[in-house]
Amino acid sequence: MKRQVFLPLFLLVLFAGIQTVWGEEIRVGLEKNFKNRAEIAVEDTSFKLSAGSKEYDIALGSTLFKPFDKVYYDTGLKFDTYSEAEKARVRFTGSSCIPVLKNEGWGIYLNLGAKCDTSAMTKITTGGNCVVCSVNGVNRYLVDASYSARVRTADDRVDLGKGEYRGVIAFYRDNGGLTAINMIDAEKYLYGTVGMEMSPAWHIEALKAQSVAARTYAYAAHESHKHGVYDLCDTTHCQNYGGIAKEEPTVIQAVNATEGEKIYYEDELINAVYFSSSGGSTMECEDVWYEDIPYLSSVPDIFEKETDNWSETFTKEHIAAIVKQKGFDIGKIKDINCEYLENGRVKAIVITGEKGEAKIEKESVRTAFTAVGNMLNSVNFKLNKNEDGTYTLTGKGKGHGVGMSQYGAKGMAESGFSYLDILKHYYSGTQIHS
Ligand SMILES: [Zn+2]
Repeated sequence: MKRQVFLPLFLLVLFAGIQTVWGEEIRVGLEKNFKNRAEIAVEDTSFKLSAGSKEYDIALGSTLFKPFDKVYYDTGLKFDTYSEAEKARVRFTGSSCIPVLKNEGWGIYLNLGAKCDTSAMTKITTGGNCVVCSVNGVNRYLVDASYSARVRTADDRVDLGKGEYRGVIAFYRDNGGLTAINMIDAEKYLYGTVGMEMSPAWHIEALKAQSVAARTYAYAAHESHKHGVYDLCDTTHCQNYGGIAKEEPTVIQAVNATEGEKIYYEDELINAVYFSSSGGSTMECEDVWYEDIPYLSSVPDIFEKETDNWSETFTKEHIAAIVKQKGFDIGKIKDINCEYLENGRVKAIVITGEKGEAKIEKESVRTAFTAVGNMLNSVNFKLNKNEDGTYTLTGKGKGHGVGMSQYGAKGMAESGFSYLDILKHYYSGTQIHS
């Protein structure tokens, strides 16, 4: 489930080569398997390669893309295709050289120490976006342009081994490594996302509600994603995205049935946060994230039939570790108490020590527990002080509790409500349209 980040809007770092016309295409950083790698393989034996507006058919076999920095002589020669550049290499017999795709088309770079007249050639250092493309262990060509190397295939599926993706894969160089960025139509991105955020076996109206929420989140998030070179990552930080492997017929049906529809509050895209289950009612946004957002108010979650019930026990040593991680110095732990909101959710945990008191509140009530394992499932819990000096938290629900409850949406759908009913219930006062 995605975590919400409230960051001020800031200018996206413009990255030449991964430009997009927003609204049609999303740039997804494939962080799960292809972030900052020494090499990334395109398993397809033929594909279309570009580093600018022109595209070239390459059919040399499965290809490894690797970051590449080296000093060469640029011969200044120009060719329309890779094959022409490859054929022209014979004129440098005896000297090592390599075809290169540049801004204006193909050329040839010559190794330093070449046994031919280089007096009219320019010495250049590759870098920036430069990658070397290697087939069967042999470096066959470079891509050294202002734009990143990009690959797509005729059947709209690029196979990167650990994942297969529709649209274009761009190879972005960062920190000496290579990160694959999937430039994909927004609707097709949702094909690979919705089923990872909600079970594809759930009621179609729930899947449609999830599709609209995920679409809204994706469109709104590009303004605040910290990475800059892409709009979203493929992890729970944004929304889970699994590419073609995670597409399911029910998900495609739900995405298609709601094509382009997004959620608005006063003509602005909303922050379409969602979570697994609430155990009775959703949370007021400001009780979790310090910010009052009118469409994220607490609403009853009465159709939620399945709720996570959970229980965890902690020792005073655990509590001490949490307090320390939070930067408090209150000495030996003496006692713990909870402050509750009107709806019974925990507003704050107050820990009393020999030297003072530590108060952990709002979203931190859940996240502080990562210091000793995982974050708490929810703030919908009761605290029990055990005779042996330990503390047991017994709770219901899973997730931050703000926005749409997914199990609640499932229950509403099964009770005959439409996806529009569901979305309007959880996102108060909103409108849904393309
Ligand atoms: Zn992210």
